[in-house]
Amino acid sequence: MPSIKLVTEIPGPVSRAFHARRQAAVPRGIYQATSLFVRSAHGAVVEDMDGNQLLDFAGGIGTLNVGHTDAGVVEAVQRQAADLTHMCFSVAGYEGYVTLAERLARLTPGTFAKKTMFVNSGAEAVENAVKIARHATKRPGVLCFEDAFHGRTQLALSLTSKVAYKAGFGPMDGNVTRVPFANPYRSAAGPSGCTRATIAGIEDHFRRHADPAQIAAVIVEPVLGEGGFIVPPPDFLRSLQELCDGYGILFIADEVQTGFGRTGRLFACEHFGVTPDIVVTAKSLGGGLPLAAIVGRAELMDSPAISGLGGTYSGNPVAIAAAHAVIDRFAKGELLARAEAIGARIEARMREWERSSPLVGDVRRLGAMVAIELVKDRATKTPAKEETTEIVRLAAERGVILMPAGTYSNVIRILVPLVVTDAELDEGLAVLGEAIEMQNAKFKMQMMS
Ligand code: PLP
Repeated sequence: MPSIKLVTEIPGPVSRAFHARRQAAVPRGIYQATSLFVRSAHGAVVEDMDGNQLLDFAGGIGTLNVGHTDAGVVEAVQRQAADLTHMCFSVAGYEGYVTLAERLARLTPGTFAKKTMFVNSGAEAVENAVKIARHATKRPGVLCFEDAFHGRTQLALSLTSKVAYKAGFGPMDGNVTRVPFANPYRSAAGPSGCTRATIAGIEDHFRRHADPAQIAAVIVEPVLGEGGFIVPPPDFLRSLQELCDGYGILFIADEVQTGFGRTGRLFACEHFGVTPDIVVTAKSLGGGLPLAAIVGRAELMDSPAISGLGGTYSGNPVAIAAAHAVIDRFAKGELLARAEAIGARIEARMREWERSSPLVGDVRRLGAMVAIELVKDRATKTPAKEETTEIVRLAAERGVILMPAGTYSNVIRILVPLVVTDAELDEGLAVLGEAIEMQNAKFKMQMMS
């Protein structure tokens, strides 16, 4: 039985009507990958307002690792909502906040004493991690990377790389300094020389542009998310941490997109053998509810004085209950292994497309964080942005929801819920393969004319 069931064209008349109303009532600045309006979603299947069923390979941009409306999450939310929807942790405490802090301290890398605070979004968590690092080190600077994405609030935006997200929103934070990320596909030094060249570049940056003695922290996504699922060489993060340790620079891992099981480990840092001073996590932590956590060394987290940290809704009891249910789901064991199996199955198909389609420049993954980068020419690696946009549109028309990524918008990333079945996965990949083949044929025609 196929999961994709289309009863109208995509987008259908109801979606189109709401999209028109959206254009009038909601700012255009909020990007939308499709014009779909949805009614419900379970597991990896979404039903839109026209009654079409589509496969969701975007997973709320990495928020739904346990799937849409996971039974445990829904039950925990309903139970909690009946008892206490809000208190404000700055007014009085509640059990779930403290027990979730205790659980995250155990689950994040590092056996040292840790403390945890909760906020509502990835960007807010990034902001708080930097505030804490600045306070603890008494240094103003922050080191970040090209192609990084850390959010859209003002400091997080300063740390975010892509100019399209930042244009017109200045001034940016003047103490942020940026260096290239170790990108095996695009580094001039190639995959094997990429770590050494990138680390040497940072050392040079410290001589030419930024005094390392003034830098509080480096913030890094273990695998670049929005930047195009760029998986660094295995030794890069360790080398980076060693370099930073030498200058007393704290290591903040932004695991907002890589976290909570996506890569086959709870945190992607675990693949690379690094122990961050502070871990920022959000998205799939809340299983669809807005929740983010900052987990760090206890002495750093305790640096800000009383009332230096907080927020009215931070660590809302309903979102906290959802996160407990998410952790319970992972504790059952099979989802992390499933992430690796899903990633391997997707990669196998992508390698076939790589062989048959010159448009596919690179296939890369860590666990179920999988992407293809599309190029007009494999030698020059000229980004194929228009073709990527068209593939995403063609796939949606045929019932698969996808999100593009990358500084050049030429990457198709897959963030399918980890509860997807093999049959659903194969069905969705067949649609994506068809969309790629259609673009490939068009591309070949253009090349010949
Ligand atoms: N950090 C990373 C790595 C992200 O991928 C994102 C969002 O995509 C953020 C931070 C910002 O999270 P939020 O959108 O919840 O503010």
